[in-house]
Amino acid sequence: MNWRPLLDAVLDMIYPRMDCILCGQPLEKDAVQGICSSCLEFLPFIREPRCSVCGKPLEETDRTEETERRYCPDCRRYPHDFDQALSVFEFSLSIRELIHRYKYGKEFSLSRTFGFFLSELLQESGWQTDEIVPVPLHKNRLRSRGFNQSALLGDSISGHLGIPCMDQVLIRNVDTKTQTGFNRQQRADNLKNAFIVKNPGPIRGRNILLIDDVYTTGATADSCSRVLRQAGAKGIHVLTIATGRNV
Ligand SMILES: [Zn+2]
Ligand SMILES: [Zn+2]
Repeated sequence: MNWRPLLDAVLDMIYPRMDCILCGQPLEKDAVQGICSSCLEFLPFIREPRCSVCGKPLEETDRTEETERRYCPDCRRYPHDFDQALSVFEFSLSIRELIHRYKYGKEFSLSRTFGFFLSELLQESGWQTDEIVPVPLHKNRLRSRGFNQSALLGDSISGHLGIPCMDQVLIRNVDTKTQTGFNRQQRADNLKNAFIVKNPGPIRGRNILLIDDVYTTGATADSCSRVLRQAGAKGIHVLTIATGRNV
């Protein structure tokens, strides 16, 4: 049991954050999730038009009839194993930095900020969700990092919306190399057989929401979705903090 996230949450309650997490300016009373109004205005929320499958932002020129499904170049060529994915933000420099502070700077309180925006997007999505499943870390990686960033996000969404978060059903049984710099095929190869469902009971016939921090080619989401589907999952949707046209 890692007590640090819990301790941080308690400290945050006793001493609420007074400065904006992005610019460091003092916060207004009605600030949203520790972000001042001017920073909030410039956050790169992904809006329409976006890909109907992976949720990546599309160029305005890709806009077709509102009712039509739209596909990014990737999803036109490659099918995915999940039903649909959405991300809150474009992977801009500011979001990249914020995720870095969360994952490597161990600013655990950011999980609540991200969890808030993920919960809002989930409510907008209209997806049916019975259970949240975070993308797992291999136990070696978990030991060295000290926490699973996706599991904390799942817990935060669970706290907001009351959907159970199951972080023990999906296991990463191969300590995969970092995927940075890999192309689509390399990512897929790297993740082959990386995940197993340890306990299919809670998965069978349920609508699963898979949580990860960043959506890149979708290789991780696909790899998890395949084993969840084999274990009998009914629907699989994917929610991440960020994605982009060129990530
Ligand atoms: Zn600010
Ligand atoms: Zn797409």
